[in-house]
Amino acid sequence: MYQSIIIGCGFAGAVMARQLAEKNGQSVLVIDSRNHVGGNCYDRKDEYGILVHQYGPHIFHTDIKKVYGYLSRFTEWYNYRHEVVGNIYGKELPIPFNLNTLKMVYGEEKGAKLEKLLIDEFGKEARVSILELMNHENEELREIGSYVYENIFLKYTMKQWGKTPKEIDPAVVGRVPVLLSYDNRYFQSTYQGLPLHGFTPLFDKMLDFEGIEVRLNTNAKDVLTIDPAGEHKVLFEGKPFEGNVIFTGALDELFDCRFGRLPYRSLRFDFEHYDKPFYQSHGVVNYTVTEDFTRITEFKYLSGQLDASDTTIIKEYPMAYEGQNGQIPYYAINNDANQALYEKYKELVQTIPHFYCLGRLAEYKYYNIDAIVNEAHLLAERL
Ligand code: UDP
Repeated sequence: MYQSIIIGCGFAGAVMARQLAEKNGQSVLVIDSRNHVGGNCYDRKDEYGILVHQYGPHIFHTDIKKVYGYLSRFTEWYNYRHEVVGNIYGKELPIPFNLNTLKMVYGEEKGAKLEKLLIDEFGKEARVSILELMNHENEELREIGSYVYENIFLKYTMKQWGKTPKEIDPAVVGRVPVLLSYDNRYFQSTYQGLPLHGFTPLFDKMLDFEGIEVRLNTNAKDVLTIDPAGEHKVLFEGKPFEGNVIFTGALDELFDCRFGRLPYRSLRFDFEHYDKPFYQSHGVVNYTVTEDFTRITEFKYLSGQLDASDTTIIKEYPMAYEGQNGQIPYYAINNDANQALYEKYKELVQTIPHFYCLGRLAEYKYYNIDAIVNEAHLLAERL
C-alpha cells in the first residue's frame, strides 16, 4: 500500500515524491491526467528537432542556493542569458525598463540628466516600482513612471489578465520594476539557466527512485474519492486510504465547483516554424502595446540550438479559463473576491486529515519554479 498519493506531476508533485521516497523511505504514487510528466514545464523536441516548451516558456532563476543545488542533482545547465525586449510600435527596447532603456527613450543628453535624478533619489542598482515613480512629487520622475506604465505595463497587462491593473493583485505590478542599472537581463537572480537537455529529462531523473510509481493518463477522480462529509474521507480505488494526499490540481474542480468556479487565466499557444535561421532578435519579445498575443518566444535561444538552420516560435494568446475540455488553467487571478472563494474550498479540505494543497493551482498562487521547489521541500520536511 502507498503511504502517500500525489496528484499532479509538475514541480510541486515531483519534488514531493522524490523527497518522501528518498528522505522518508515512503512508497509513493504520483498520478497525472496528462500523458507525460513535468506539468507545464514539460518540453520535447518538435518534428524539426528544436526543443520546445509545450506550455510556454519556463526559465529557471533563483537566489536560493539550496534549490539550485537540489535541481543540479538531476541536470546540468545551459547557461542561457535571458534578455527580453519589448516591441513598442516596432521599436525594440530592453525590459525591464533600465538605464539602457532610459537612454534609448530619452536620448543621451536628457537620459543622462534623468539617470542622475533617478540615482540621486533611489540609489544605484535600485529596483523602483512603477507606482512609486508615478506617484512621485518630482514631475520628471512621474513622467518616466507614466512612460513605463503606458508603454510597457498597461496594454500587456490588459491582454494578459483581461482586467485593468487596478483590478489585479499589486504584486503583479511589482514583477516589472524599473531597474537603475545597465543590466539587460530579465532576472537578476544569482543562479539562472535552463536544464541542458530539457526539463523533461530532469523530471525523469527525479522520479526515477525506489518507491516512486508514476501513473499517467489517470484522473484523480478515477482512483480517488474525496468526501469531506463521508465516514471515510478518502477512498483509493474504493478502499479507505489513511496516508497522505498531496493535491496539486485545481481545488474547485476536485469538488465539482460546488461553490462556483475559481477564476484562472488560460492561454492559447500557436507554434510556428520558419525555414530560416532566426525569427527575432531575442529569446522573448514582449508585444507591450500592439497585437493580440502578449509575447513571442523563439526556442532555439533557450535551448542553445543556435546553429540550427531553421527555427520554431510560439505566440501566447491569453484568454479566460472556462473549464472546457482541453483548456488549461495557467494563472490564478488573485484579488479579494477570488481569494474569499478559494478559502471556502480550503476550509472544506482542512476537514480531511493528511490532505495537503501544494502549487500554483491548488494554492491559487503565483509561484515561480524556485519558490515551489522550496515549498515542496518544506512540506516534505513537515511530513
Ligand atoms: N508585464 C507587463 N509587461 C511586460 C512584462 C510583464 O506588463 O513586458 C506584467 C504583466 O501583467 C504580466 C506580469 O507583469 O502578467 C508578469 O510578467 P512575467 O514576465 O513575470 O510573467 P510570466 O512569465 O509569469 O507570465
